[in-house]
Amino acid sequence: MILDLSLSEMEKYVEYLGEKKFRAKQIFDACTQLKSLEEITNLPQNLKGKIKKDWFFYEISADLQSKDGTRKIAIKFADGSIVESVLLKYKYGNTVCVSTQVGCRMGCTFCASTLGGLKRNLSAGEILLQVLLFNRLLGGTHKERKVTNVVLMGCGEPLDNYDNVTKFLRLVSSPEGLNISQRNISLSTCGLVPNIYRLADDGFSVTLTISLHAPNDELRKQIMPIANAYKISEILQACDHYFDKTGRRICFEYSLIDGVNDGDKEVEELARLLHGRSCHVNLIPLNSVKEKKLVGVSRAKAYKIAEKLEKLGISATVRRTMGEDIEGACGQLRNRIGGQNA
Ligand code: SAH
Repeated sequence: MILDLSLSEMEKYVEYLGEKKFRAKQIFDACTQLKSLEEITNLPQNLKGKIKKDWFFYEISADLQSKDGTRKIAIKFADGSIVESVLLKYKYGNTVCVSTQVGCRMGCTFCASTLGGLKRNLSAGEILLQVLLFNRLLGGTHKERKVTNVVLMGCGEPLDNYDNVTKFLRLVSSPEGLNISQRNISLSTCGLVPNIYRLADDGFSVTLTISLHAPNDELRKQIMPIANAYKISEILQACDHYFDKTGRRICFEYSLIDGVNDGDKEVEELARLLHGRSCHVNLIPLNSVKEKKLVGVSRAKAYKIAEKLEKLGISATVRRTMGEDIEGACGQLRNRIGGQNA
């Protein structure tokens, strides 16, 4: 797929086609604008003919807009796989939430993305396409970028698709592409420890977000199978390494599940666990998923917990709920339109 290519790879591709080198930048710019071959005006027909089989393909299977400006799109790829991407509008800019896999194999008990297991990894270009699509829909181009931030928080576990995800990070932050700074990119993981080290050692500096959701291993194992593979203490050590290498404050996500992880005992334990770390806690009242029995706490309760954490010296905020009227939680839209079986 042509969107997988960096500019220097595009130059090699163009050379392989027997074309002049300057064509590479023209094709690359057309890709960044997500142009169809018909829309490209500066390439000769015979060259278009040569690149046709490698051009990207996607279809918009669903496009939902919320009252608050959130827009959720289900994208279908050539093999019928469907992924979800979300645009979140903030005062400071436009954030795109991308999926990194079709489905997920992490099996978190509260998450809709994992209901049908993992279908396949997305390629770097397929992840990039989600950002390019929203940039285009917002009226942006390769020169005038409208998407300012990216979060890897859609379907899939980014660190379970390491090579494609890191290639995507390079592509989306490259100066000849959308040039989105790694400072404006957040990667969320359930905590695949070896790949947290790898990310730091490979020189990436995105904001690392850890889906913690429990203050001890015992409770974490009940809601996140990955907790059987890595202890919280191992995750925190990896976070320390990431912080040492990048200087970037780590963010911990904590989805509040009624009667499971929201008691005073758990909140105090969480504060003790994170005490003295340069970090931030993002509290998310669980988005109830139809297929699961777990329910979220009220926003009022979430604010109380944030207050308590702050008092105990931990920086904490409650994540704004956005797009609730358009199937907010991860994977819900895809499941509803049948993407799970695609
Ligand atoms: N696999 C990555 C990215 C997943 S989604 C990860 O685990 O971090 C981003 C966040 O949403 C994660 O913290 C995930 O645990 C959380 N999440 C998933 N389902 C949710 C739900 N129903 N309600 C609230 N948060 C949820």
